[in-house]
Amino acid sequence: MANVPQNALLGLSRSELASLVEEWGEPSYRTSQLLEAVYRQRVESVEQISTLPLSLRAKLVELGVCVGLPGIEKRFVSLDGTVRYLIAFADGQSVETVWMPEGDGGEAGDGTEAGDSASSADGDRPHLVGGQNRGWDRATICVSSQVGCAVDCQFCLTALLGVKRNLTAGEIAGQVCAVLKDQKVSPPQDRINLVFMGMGEPFLNYENFMKAVRLLVEEVGVAEPRMTVSTAGIVPRIHDFGQEAVRPKLAISLNASNDAARTQLMPLNRKWDLEKLMAAAREFPLRNRERITFEYVLLDGVNDSAENAREVAELLRGMRAKVNLIALNPGPGIQFSTPAEVRVAAFQQVLMEAGIPAFVRRPRGRDIFAACGQLKRTVEIATAPAV
Ligand code: SAH
Repeated sequence: MANVPQNALLGLSRSELASLVEEWGEPSYRTSQLLEAVYRQRVESVEQISTLPLSLRAKLVELGVCVGLPGIEKRFVSLDGTVRYLIAFADGQSVETVWMPEGDGGEAGDGTEAGDSASSADGDRPHLVGGQNRGWDRATICVSSQVGCAVDCQFCLTALLGVKRNLTAGEIAGQVCAVLKDQKVSPPQDRINLVFMGMGEPFLNYENFMKAVRLLVEEVGVAEPRMTVSTAGIVPRIHDFGQEAVRPKLAISLNASNDAARTQLMPLNRKWDLEKLMAAAREFPLRNRERITFEYVLLDGVNDSAENAREVAELLRGMRAKVNLIALNPGPGIQFSTPAEVRVAAFQQVLMEAGIPAFVRRPRGRDIFAACGQLKRTVEIATAPAV
């Protein structure tokens, strides 16, 4: 299967690059120059790596070495400032990556509880950002891990695509590089959070996903606590993830309060049911002050009753957890509808009264199909003009 260019620099770790540099007969400091150019300056071509002598640039071009920065094919800009990018890879496959100035109210990614309240700890620190004067204080990039998805959640548009292929580590990290370049921002000066919640199931592309995380931490400069990965509940990988030295925070897509409902909505529940999922969550080794996030998509009249909320509270009893509630983002071909705000608030209330922190995620970019569960390479159904 065609994939990223064979000789792409983006995706290589320091040690992989170091052995190439040695193979080329170059001094070892070239490794740092290349890493700097690819991951920090985010050059588009080898010719642009101005720290290398021209002769070496020519030699690399001759060897067929390229940067491998994915291309931005389209941008859709929402009224709320969210940008949905259609990002294309060398083999013509593409994914969507979403830029959200001010995040989505669910994950501050910086240790604060963003929630939907205005009282996030970030509120009074306008001076901290490179984004000052641009009207945002921190931003979140939502990153895809696969072209399409195999998990088949009944409320999610990405599921309708099926899975086309896994992304490589370079393609996962490359989405972030492409968006940072386009937005002209750089971590850590600019406060950028990453959520691996775009198209695909990261834990079904585990090795590439984890390699991308390490590249983003070590080379691009995004701090670990600013990253969150969401899984539909691939139980064996939750165990593996807990053993990683470098890892984002964990979010689990719960979406139902009992097995019967969850199996209907998320067929993978047949394989990894709530007992297995919750056991993995309870065993998950949390760090200091860390909590597991449970995401819960509210579907009108399906999983959003007070009784459902009580069942969720029961499942999470005694855990260091919080719940992010997401009212369904609708889409063509999705059979469910969005509950009224009062129902969402009532659900939240039951959880809060049971002592479980619960936040309502503000939908971001719904008008351009950029919100949770709406990523489908939707060039054909986008309503906003591409810019
Ligand atoms: N595959 C991973 C990563 C995707 S995260 C996972 O399932 O966790 C996407 C989040 O959006 C998940 O929590 C999912 O439950 C939620 N979601 C999916 N479709 C949605 C929709 N139509 N409206 C609102 N949220 C949705």
